Amino acid sequence: ITFKDLGLSKDVLKGIEMMGYVSPSPIQEKSIPVLLEGKDIIGQAQTGTGKTLAFGSVLLSTIEKNNKQVQALILSPTRELALQIHEELKRIGKYTDLSIVSVFGGSEIDKQSKNLKRGADIVVGTPGRVQDLMRRKVLKIDHIQWMVLDEADEMLNMGFIEDIENILQATPAEKRTILFSATMPSDIKKIASNYMQEDYMHIQ
Ligand code: AMP
Repeated sequence: ITFKDLGLSKDVLKGIEMMGYVSPSPIQEKSIPVLLEGKDIIGQAQTGTGKTLAFGSVLLSTIEKNNKQVQALILSPTRELALQIHEELKRIGKYTDLSIVSVFGGSEIDKQSKNLKRGADIVVGTPGRVQDLMRRKVLKIDHIQWMVLDEADEMLNMGFIEDIENILQATPAEKRTILFSATMPSDIKKIASNYMQEDYMHIQ
């Protein structure tokens, strides 16, 4: 099986080709078609399995350019991971016209605000800074189509449960949710049953 068999957009396939990847990893092969079919997923996968490309390729294939509203929000536990996701999405999306902005603590909020105001299709951020920018009304997530929780168990371990719930409550009901977690503690299952489509698929 190659990436061409999965249903991704031409522009994204071109990006993946330029990255030098031909065969999807197991998590990519299992999750990309399910996501493109319209189902939410919980992906149980560690770093290094190719989970970023699994969700990134789907977001970048399905989102259409729109300068007014943020269409996808990706939450990450740390600034390092947020930056890594941002870099990988830029490479996958090189041949799309979508704009990606990352926001995280420990870095100038004014610059991040300016980037958001210029128009972001996809936002990658850490929970604290995302909420800060929501409070300032610079980041609006009430029209997102995609919500991604990456390393969700790590975010819970770091005490972000309330932040995550606050953020999820500000998103529209009819969005799609992708949750990646290496482990499946009960808090993750609770988030899934409270905020995800009932028929979500668990992929390992
Ligand atoms: P991740 O699990 O998202 O942290 O990805 C781990 C690394 O594997 C990243 O450097 C990716 O760019 C790379 N990668 C992702 N998908 C593939 C693939 N299908 N073939 C080879 N490398 C990949």
